Amino acid sequence: MQDHWAIVGAGIAGIAAARRLVAAGRRVTLLDKSRGIGGRMATRRVGDLQFDHGAQFVTARGEVFSAALAGLEAEGHAAPWVGQGHVGTPGMSALPKGLAAGLTVVGNQEIRILRRGPDGWTLSTADGPAAVDGNGGFAGVVLAVPAPQAIPLAASAGAVWPGLGRVRYAPCWALMLAFDQGSVDLASSLRPSGDAAIGWIARDDSKPGRTGTSATVVVHATPAWSRAHLEETQEAVAAQLLAAFRATTGATAEPEYAAAHRWRYALVEEALGEPFLWDGALGIGACGDWCIGARVEAAFDSGDALGAAITG
Ligand SMILES: Cc1cc2nc3c(=O)[nH]c(=O)nc-3n(C[C@H](O)[C@H](O)[C@H](O)COP(=O)(O)OP(=O)(O)OC[C@H]3O[C@@H](n4cnc5c(N)ncnc54)[C@H](O)[C@@H]3O)c2cc1C
Repeated sequence: MQDHWAIVGAGIAGIAAARRLVAAGRRVTLLDKSRGIGGRMATRRVGDLQFDHGAQFVTARGEVFSAALAGLEAEGHAAPWVGQGHVGTPGMSALPKGLAAGLTVVGNQEIRILRRGPDGWTLSTADGPAAVDGNGGFAGVVLAVPAPQAIPLAASAGAVWPGLGRVRYAPCWALMLAFDQGSVDLASSLRPSGDAAIGWIARDDSKPGRTGTSATVVVHATPAWSRAHLEETQEAVAAQLLAAFRATTGATAEPEYAAAHRWRYALVEEALGEPFLWDGALGIGACGDWCIGARVEAAFDSGDALGAAITG
């Protein structure tokens, strides 16, 4: 019978691991706590507006991710963006979605506990065993979630991985703004040097394949500012970052839309320094950007390497 594997987390790392396992003939089910897939490679849609409020663009240095990106570009899911790297088209989430084509993904499943019984692994949410096909009989489990979220899952499974506790993430508050065309004087992107609050500003609608009519902007706060304001409300953060955006760009127009989003685990500050974690006796592994570094490609490479190690 075909081994059936569960992957917790349908971000780019989980998807890369799934692709390897499926290519080697394993059956795979990805479970994610969100409704959609892609994790931090996200696109928020509000009416006619859309924003890449997480990862902004991807770059490919190694062969494996370069090949995956070339495939995505050939299929129309990716395109180059002036002077940066590639972006998903029509939004960043098109990249994970394109890579996950044909994979089985079940959303709204926040996994809390892993237990191994005589027939295999059972994954449970706060409401009990997850209602997914094959649960109770999974041959192995891949944790593809940020390290702090992997810690309780690994502990419940009996995996002893002290390295997980060493990983550090910086948070990031993101502000999404929409204006009438002509009211924002920014061609594509800006990294204001030395600004205490703002680390990055992007004209989202300058990315290829965007079809909206508004000027859409994504502002990312610096790690220090995000940390200092981590527990404030979205409304309070949106007001402060809008003021900082105006001070930096000189924009005076009222936005037609303004909303903040908090990424608690945004960018890896201290990585594990190994491509993945794997406990062969238990049949459980862990992967993600936190193994290698703060980039989409690092997350993809980690998942791919774990999948390759599992399938030998
Ligand atoms: C604001 C921001 C800007 C960035 N900019 C860039 C950039 O420009 N270029 C770049 O290369 N990288 C960028 N990054 C980093 C990049 O997005 C990440 O490195 C990469 O997407 C991480 O992928 P991952 O699969 O490891 O984790 P994630 O994308 O975080 O995926 C983990 C998944 O696990 C799910 N999950 C978590 N816990 C559970 C649970 N208990 N049960 C079920 N599911 C669970 C989550 O919902 C999520 O879908 C940025 C990140 C942020 C936040």
